[in-house]
Amino acid sequence: MNTDNQLLQQIENVSSRLTQMHECVQDLPAHKVEVITEVLEQVNVSLEELRVAREELSHQNEQLSVTREQLERERQRYKELFEFAPDAYLVTDENGTIREANYTAAALLNVSQRFLVGKPLSIFVPEEERRDFRLRINQLRIGELERLREWELRMQPRKGESFEAAITVSAVWNPEGFNLRWMLRDITRRKKVEAQLGQMHLENLRLQEITQIKSQFLSAISHELRTPMNAILGFSQLLLRHPHLSLEPKQVQMVERIHDNGHNLLGLINDILDLSKVDAGRMELPLEEVDLVDLVHKTTDELQSLVIEKHLFLQVHTDLQNPITINNRSRLRQILVNLLANAIKFTETGGVRIEVSEVEGDLDRLVIEVKDTGIGIPKEDIERIFEAFEQVDRSAKRNYQSTGLGLAISKSLVDLMQGTITVTSQVGEGSTFRVELPRRLRVHK
Ligand code: ADP
Repeated sequence: MNTDNQLLQQIENVSSRLTQMHECVQDLPAHKVEVITEVLEQVNVSLEELRVAREELSHQNEQLSVTREQLERERQRYKELFEFAPDAYLVTDENGTIREANYTAAALLNVSQRFLVGKPLSIFVPEEERRDFRLRINQLRIGELERLREWELRMQPRKGESFEAAITVSAVWNPEGFNLRWMLRDITRRKKVEAQLGQMHLENLRLQEITQIKSQFLSAISHELRTPMNAILGFSQLLLRHPHLSLEPKQVQMVERIHDNGHNLLGLINDILDLSKVDAGRMELPLEEVDLVDLVHKTTDELQSLVIEKHLFLQVHTDLQNPITINNRSRLRQILVNLLANAIKFTETGGVRIEVSEVEGDLDRLVIEVKDTGIGIPKEDIERIFEAFEQVDRSAKRNYQSTGLGLAISKSLVDLMQGTITVTSQVGEGSTFRVELPRRLRVHK
């Protein structure tokens, strides 16, 4: 029986004794009855008060036990948090002797929780780092330091490899005295990733430097080559245009070859120069209003002779609500020429169709599609054709008079124009190159 019930029982006992006494008092002389009845009444009142007090006490007791239960649940919750935290937590005394350790700490140091308690934490620090370790503990003990954050230290578990740890320690004073609270985290992987990132950053810088040097070199050499090339072209043209020089037919053929090859070489030099400009971030894109429909018609007109020569068709289909775009006319033309010339070059039967439109539902984006019925591009080559000097079939170079730079330049230009270039193709059936561009280019810095 608990004390509360005992108290209740005693109150009831006294109460029934009082009733009995009341009955006995009736037999006494009248003046005595009055006094005793008065006393008994008062005792009765006191008893009633005692009952009320008991009830109050019992209520408080109930509340106390509810609070105690809550406290116990909280304590359990914190214990679990501590126990199963993903980081290693330890509590040591001022000398660094372990008083408590959670599950992760035990796993990290490779010693069961039971055996960790009582061991100095310093035994898990390699010899060469122990001096520093003790020094820091001392600083915390004498109050020089209150807290150490992300202190990086090598740690040595009982067996197995040592690891890099990031440690946070706080000095805490509580009624039981002074202790240190430790949080340990294995940062070996983080360190490795940091080192790799550092290495990658360095390599990136080196690569940027190399790219810069390469573009400067290409740009310088192309400039140097352009001057003599222009002279070769100019003089060979002069030779061909002056009938009074009366060249032999064989000589005319030779001069024509000099001129054609010179022309191709100049094209290559210009392409290299363009690519190196983009690489070095020196490609300028002065913006102007361009009528895209007009540009497409003029460009296809220029290529008409090639189409006729190969007995192909060249169709233009424009479906624009507004043909005006803010871009750079000559660079847009360069992209169109590259795509159309390729389409004509790699098509033997059928022909080429160019379609210009706005993206459905977005008048601010323009689409140019160049479709051909040519040889197509194998799936595995689609990615690399946009890289400089890449051709699907290198032996085709001779047949098709190509350098492998056109698409690389086109892609660089489209990127610069904040657009996209993609291709879909089926070998033997043809290819479709799709360029999507914003209607208004932002001012280029
Ligand atoms: P080039 O045409 O001077 O070789 P490009 O960079 O313009 O260089 O093209 C790279 C390669 O992509 C070409 O050599 C060719 O193999 C392939 N290619 C480009 N356009 C087409 C096309 N319309 N049809 C088939 N293959 C193409």
